Amino acid sequence: MIGSGSFKIQTMSKAGNRAAILECISTAEEIARVDIAQATGINAATVTALTSELLDEGIVEALMDEEKQNTKRGRPRVKLCLNPKAFNLAGAKISEDAITVAIIDFAGTLLSEHMQKGNSFAIPKHKLAANLKKAISVAVDKAGLHIDDITALGVGIPGYVDIASECVHWSPALSDTPTNFVETLRATFDFPVMLDNDVNLAALAEQRFGLGKGISDFLVVTIEHGVGMGIVLNNNLFRGTRGLGGEFGHTKVQLNGALCRCGQRGCLEAYVADYALLREADTAIKLQSANNLPTAQRLEALYLEAKSGNQAALSIFERAGKIFGMGLANLVNIFDPSLIIFAGERMQFDFLYEEDVLEELRRNTLQIDRAPPKVQVHKWGDLLWAKGAAAWATEYVIHQAAAKNNES
Ligand SMILES: [Zn+2]
Repeated sequence: MIGSGSFKIQTMSKAGNRAAILECISTAEEIARVDIAQATGINAATVTALTSELLDEGIVEALMDEEKQNTKRGRPRVKLCLNPKAFNLAGAKISEDAITVAIIDFAGTLLSEHMQKGNSFAIPKHKLAANLKKAISVAVDKAGLHIDDITALGVGIPGYVDIASECVHWSPALSDTPTNFVETLRATFDFPVMLDNDVNLAALAEQRFGLGKGISDFLVVTIEHGVGMGIVLNNNLFRGTRGLGGEFGHTKVQLNGALCRCGQRGCLEAYVADYALLREADTAIKLQSANNLPTAQRLEALYLEAKSGNQAALSIFERAGKIFGMGLANLVNIFDPSLIIFAGERMQFDFLYEEDVLEELRRNTLQIDRAPPKVQVHKWGDLLWAKGAAAWATEYVIHQAAAKNNES
């Protein structure tokens, strides 16, 4: 089933119609003209005219529908897809210790990936842009392309990013915030660059390549150093007015509670994120042997303590799990999504005793005689985030391509 709904438009400019058609083809991957008309609400004659243009421009390709071709009745039905060779897009995810780059074609197929280790957090924007440039040129090489073959770049960065004003208000990756990091990136690359909060791009990745495919309303919750959320409503990413929507980690769960990285008190993240669990552990139990280890290994040591029956360690996870479940229940009561995806690479979901979290979620959610939202865990690494960033660059290119032939 096509992700319908969001493309239905009453009257629209030619560029708007072209964009809606391209988005519809992109979402469906392969679709017949008649189904485009149905999904977008654009009349069949207009769909035929505009798709002919897009075919002539090499943006869209025609495929024979083999099923129909094999039947004796009627002409074979032609399906349309994006021409993979029309554009190449790059996406990058900036994380704690690495930059991960994905190069995809216009149809979303991965052409190459590259992870550049050794990125250190909280560095000046010029240095981060230079690191990014190095990582992208390696990925472009691996894809057998030249840097000039890239049409656009999407970048996901942790922190507070207002894409309208282009301001990164705060990011653990940058030492000189608030700042316009997009401007620096534009000066670094010869193609358009888009920057967004990394979790928003994770939601785009789930929508385009992952568990959110074809689902109109879903939430993506990530637990890494912080707790993030991407919101997809009616097939569109919801960012909020100031780009600060979906800051699930900073919803308040305790009056005058634990101190959060944001400077406020009682945030969910201050109980659930890795630094919060380790901070608790530092005061409740002594994990001397683990003190010099990296965060992930210290967390694992704490988890093993809990598993082996250390009551203090166990209660840290139990409390975090309960608070996390309660926070999730609040999300369900507000958004009533059909799906919540726990996404990310790291093992915090296991640490948080998944069943306890889900029980707390059920207990605090309004119940009716219809199934509650599905909860799915999707463990993946930085590559999918990078693909999400590239998917965002694809959206940009779709709108540029749609506007290109806008005279009539
Ligand atoms: Zn906070």
